[in-house]
Amino acid sequence: MVRVRALFAFVIVLTGWSIHLLNTNQPIENNAINFFDLSSEVFTIIVIFMMLFVNLRLASTTSESSMFFIGLLSLLCGHTHDLLDEVINIQPLFISLILENAANNVGVLVIMFALFKWSGRYKQQIKLLQEQKLALTSVSNTDPMTHLYNRRFLNDEFKTRLQSLNLEQSPHTLAMIDLDRFKHFNDTYGHLEGDKLIQHAARTILNEIREVDYAFRFGGEEFLVVIKGNITTARRVAQRIHKVYYDSLFAVDGLKIEKSLSIGLKQLDDSFAFEQALNQADLALYQAKKQGRNCIIESSTCTNNEPTSFIQVTLNKDLATS
Ligand code: GH3
Ligand code: MG
Ligand code: MG
Repeated sequence: MVRVRALFAFVIVLTGWSIHLLNTNQPIENNAINFFDLSSEVFTIIVIFMMLFVNLRLASTTSESSMFFIGLLSLLCGHTHDLLDEVINIQPLFISLILENAANNVGVLVIMFALFKWSGRYKQQIKLLQEQKLALTSVSNTDPMTHLYNRRFLNDEFKTRLQSLNLEQSPHTLAMIDLDRFKHFNDTYGHLEGDKLIQHAARTILNEIREVDYAFRFGGEEFLVVIKGNITTARRVAQRIHKVYYDSLFAVDGLKIEKSLSIGLKQLDDSFAFEQALNQADLALYQAKKQGRNCIIESSTCTNNEPTSFIQVTLNKDLATS
């Protein structure tokens, strides 16, 4: 309402000013300051101040489009004065020139302010959209139960990202991790406790990997970790995860649970496609299960041809084996 009233007042003043200038259509001697000239300038000063006042009032409350309108009116005001000067043949005095420019300047300033305000809001909206996109991407890329990455992210994005790397310069190793005898745990303590154990394992994995590594929930109680580094680095990371999980306290109804996990490792190399390396890591994990679980096995196969050769990784010295 205030905005409409201010705009209305502004238009009235503008119209009044134009009529006033038209009324001063009298022959005037060159360079002479007469009554019409002076009253015109005084009136112009009042109009400029009114414009400034109205613009400042509106600037704090108005939308960008209204400000554009005000800016255009101010510009028009300056040009009208120019035009009328020519029509009524008033020789512009110095002050008249300043005031005409002032009207234009006010217009330009208001339009600039409107643009500034608009770009600020636009930037804010872009930021908001980016944040929303990030939140949505993060939700669609992660497993809700463990907050690890899910297989959708692995298949849609991660594999392509990894395959574009120069693996000779930046080696990566896959670690397939599976909780041992989890079905038995589920059957004994129930599905809810089973979920908690999966979450506990996921937290352990996340704590033991570095920021450059990626952890995925691959299936029920199976995880894939993509370790940045060669097999030697990966071995250390795997040993850490294995030991910390084994040593960690997990209790059901106050009863400490004995638990372990098995890991299969395979370093990615240039001759190996991701799927083939994943298959090799899975075979190494299968071998670990076959050898009695609670251990780490490396696949040392260099080509895609079977049979795969395996190496058992020495566990940390103080780790009891079951
Ligand atoms: P192994 O040592 O050979 O890995 O034996 P395992 O019992 O751990 O493996 P198996 O594949 O026989 O059983 C896995 C079980 O995990 C079967 C399935 O019901 C259970 N499971 C899969 N997803 C979930 C889940 O989200 N929550 C719970 N609580 N259980 C799950
Ligand atoms: Mg299992
Ligand atoms: Mg399994």
